[in-house]
Amino acid sequence: MTEFDYILVGGGLQSGLLALALRERKPSARIALIEASDRIGGNHTWSFHSGDVPPAANTIIQPLITAHWPQYDTRFPNQSRRLNAAYSTISSDRFADVVSASLNRDGCRIWLKTPAVRLTHNRIECADGTELSAKCVIDSRGPLESPTGCGYQKFIGWEIETDRDWPESAPVVMDATVPQIDGFHFFYTLPFTKRRILVEDTYFSDSPQLDRPQIEQRIRDYLSARVPDWRIIREESGVLPMPWRSHPNSLPETPSETPPETPSDAPIRGGYAGGWFHPATGYSFPVALRFALAVADVSPELARNAIATLARRLTHRWKFARLLNRLLFCLVPPESRWQVFARLYRTLPPAVFARFYSMEFAVTDAARILIGRPPQINFLRLLPFSRSQR
Ligand SMILES: Cc1cc2nc3c(=O)[nH]c(=O)nc-3n(C[C@H](O)[C@H](O)[C@H](O)COP(=O)(O)OP(=O)(O)OC[C@H]3O[C@@H](n4cnc5c(N)ncnc54)[C@H](O)[C@@H]3O)c2cc1C
Repeated sequence: MTEFDYILVGGGLQSGLLALALRERKPSARIALIEASDRIGGNHTWSFHSGDVPPAANTIIQPLITAHWPQYDTRFPNQSRRLNAAYSTISSDRFADVVSASLNRDGCRIWLKTPAVRLTHNRIECADGTELSAKCVIDSRGPLESPTGCGYQKFIGWEIETDRDWPESAPVVMDATVPQIDGFHFFYTLPFTKRRILVEDTYFSDSPQLDRPQIEQRIRDYLSARVPDWRIIREESGVLPMPWRSHPNSLPETPSETPPETPSDAPIRGGYAGGWFHPATGYSFPVALRFALAVADVSPELARNAIATLARRLTHRWKFARLLNRLLFCLVPPESRWQVFARLYRTLPPAVFARFYSMEFAVTDAARILIGRPPQINFLRLLPFSRSQR
């Protein structure tokens, strides 16, 4: 059986960030990365705010960036705002190239088309009979269980090419001037160049169902109002949970619940598999990066302790983000949800957004986010029988 220092199971965002952090901070570590599909990184555009990257991680993240803007815009009825805060994007193609290159050395290896079927804290078995052992196994196989007690951020995005210049030069992270359908509805546009743009139709919805024909028609209508013709060069879609209950594999709620010294035969769970995402955005880049840095800063034997420590540091922010989801999805009627975001983007300074998105917010930030009354609160919606599907 081949022996490694780390086995990273799942070749997505979490394992890729782990591989890059480990290669930088533990150059001689022996790393195995196991991916079920035929490619690393899947088909994604991962975007993040500059505050999501701690300064110490800049050298890891810089090579991944495929587009960068110094500012971004938000639009609501009768309100628009430009935030002077940098925004960046990583394409899964670039991600796959950088991660593959970093593991292309003696002692490291990537397995593609090799689903792992049995995992413990120090060994794995794959469907093709491959068996590997390591001092530390980290399971980042993406979402494993269907969550309950959550709303959803769901979207379809088309990356298009057009023969005319796109009318915007900055990303519009929320264009909520569109009809409010199926919850909070907005378009998200990333102008990679003047003529290559990602246009996503997004909903903060009670339901995980993506009504493809309807959504595609809305994207066509949105595009027609801006450019006369276009070609779709790539499509991506997602249904990301925005939980208000704790995740099935969620972070430890209290220090005593999962004491670091607890012996465990289970692998460490990272990424979506371990609940390491921002509950209020469905995004995982900031927490996946902090998870990767925490693991890379200690020996493989101490990784579980380091993760438990990070989990304890995040617990209160995690709970606050879930509370926001509960308020949004249980108290605010779907057609009024846009007003919550309009208020936030009208009143909060960019620094508060930066700390909130990166899960580094303080109590004072939480207070500022909560101040102000959500529109048309309907307390009946909190009663269990009024939401029997949850
Ligand atoms: C289209 C889309 C866009 C998104 N955009 C953003 C964004 O802009 N910013 C952001 O922060 N978040 C974004 N997210 C949310 C989140 O960051 C991603 O879902 C992220 O990829 C989660 O990382 P992960 O490593 O946990 O899981 P994944 O990236 O999904 O990786 C899991 C990997 O495990 C592999 N796998 C599964 N089973 C096995 C097995 N048995 N053996 C081996 N491998 C296995 C899968 O094939 C996959 O490659 C987006 C999600 C989607 C779907």
